[in-house]
Amino acid sequence: MGHRVLMLGAGYAGLTAARRLSTLLRHNDVEIVLVNDRTDFVERIRLHQLAAGQDLPRHELADLLAGTGVRLHCARVESIDAEERTVVADGEAIGYDTLVYALGSAGAPLPGAAEHGWSAASPAGALRLRGRLGRAGQGERVLVVGGGLTGLEIAAEIAEARPELSVALATSGGLGDWLAPAARRHLRRGFDRLGIEVREGVRIERFGPGGAVADGALVPADVSIAATGFAPNPIAAGSTLRLDDSGQVVVDAAMRSVSHPDVYAVGDAAWAMGPGGRPLRMSCSSGMPTGWIAAGEIAARLTDRRPPRLRARYFHQTISLGRRDAVVQFVTADDRPKRGCLTGRAAVRYKETLCRTAVWSFAHDLPAKPARNGALHSAA
Ligand SMILES: Cc1cc2nc3c(=O)[nH]c(=O)nc-3n(C[C@H](O)[C@H](O)[C@H](O)COP(=O)(O)OP(=O)(O)OC[C@H]3O[C@@H](n4cnc5c(N)ncnc54)[C@H](O)[C@@H]3O)c2cc1C
Repeated sequence: MGHRVLMLGAGYAGLTAARRLSTLLRHNDVEIVLVNDRTDFVERIRLHQLAAGQDLPRHELADLLAGTGVRLHCARVESIDAEERTVVADGEAIGYDTLVYALGSAGAPLPGAAEHGWSAASPAGALRLRGRLGRAGQGERVLVVGGGLTGLEIAAEIAEARPELSVALATSGGLGDWLAPAARRHLRRGFDRLGIEVREGVRIERFGPGGAVADGALVPADVSIAATGFAPNPIAAGSTLRLDDSGQVVVDAAMRSVSHPDVYAVGDAAWAMGPGGRPLRMSCSSGMPTGWIAAGEIAARLTDRRPPRLRARYFHQTISLGRRDAVVQFVTADDRPKRGCLTGRAAVRYKETLCRTAVWSFAHDLPAKPARNGALHSAA
């Protein structure tokens, strides 16, 4: 039997890696098996739209990967034995020669969130939130906790779709305080226009029955939504793979596990050092390039070629403010804001193009040779 590459997770990073690897190794004796717990690709970066009541197009994985030779296996991964090179999924043991770990992340837990909180970080969470918002009546108070990119997008999407609700956002810092002044001003104007109350310098500790608690005081809300970051998938924590403190698999510049050289990790599930000595942040902007890098490295290893040695870098941070407005903050390779930004309709089109291009790229082979300057495509 040929070499088996087992890939876990068909999100942005896993699908990029699977498609790319199949392009690079199409005529080689390599079996690529992609395990995912559902048969469709979830556009996770649109889950705030789903939560706010919009219907998202369905993308069947079988259609996206038709003709690539990648074998899809719909099953839930339960454990990884990195010593025996075996994965258990739906009770069945599957051996591998090379493993690509791309199981993504979920919303970071906040105390009390399971009983009293809502989330748009997973498809199931977004659907539950959609159901709750569907039952919300005039003037009900929605509190989004977390002023990062995801929190901003969730608050704006709900406020635009449901102007009769009273939407607030609580952030421990200032609104968009990491953005350059022009982007920050546009964000503030957008929030004002949407009528979102901004509570800055508020560090929420937990969720309770009547809202969220900060410094022992209740911030009242009928629907409290956690957007306080992501926690990596816990499956790796049950293995002997080396992890960082948060539970991400520690990898080198080739996305290869520092403890197990036959394992690669990509996307939100991986801890990798990025440009400027800063770890890559959990995002599609990191996930797709890391999937691409891992595929190139694996293909080079299996065909005894020199690896391409590409590096992930950033170009932008894109923040949708509902369907009619957005901000695109251009950033340096190491994700620091530049002065320039796009706003309004142009920014909406920019972001929409990125979202669509990501899905398009899963269904199409891109040239087998990387660009000379080493630049990588990246999503929103
Ligand atoms: C509302 C929202 C808006 C966002 N907006 C942006 C944005 O504008 N730009 C940006 O860059 N990022 C954005 N993000 C973050 C981005 O979605 C994630 O960083 C990205 O999805 C990570 O990609 P991934 O492939 O690592 O993981 P995922 O996309 O989460 O994919 C993981 C895959 O593994 C599967 N899986 C999980 N557990 C198992 C299991 N046990 N067995 C089998 N399969 C399993 C899942 O079904 C999924 O297919 C946003 C996130 C949210 C929630």
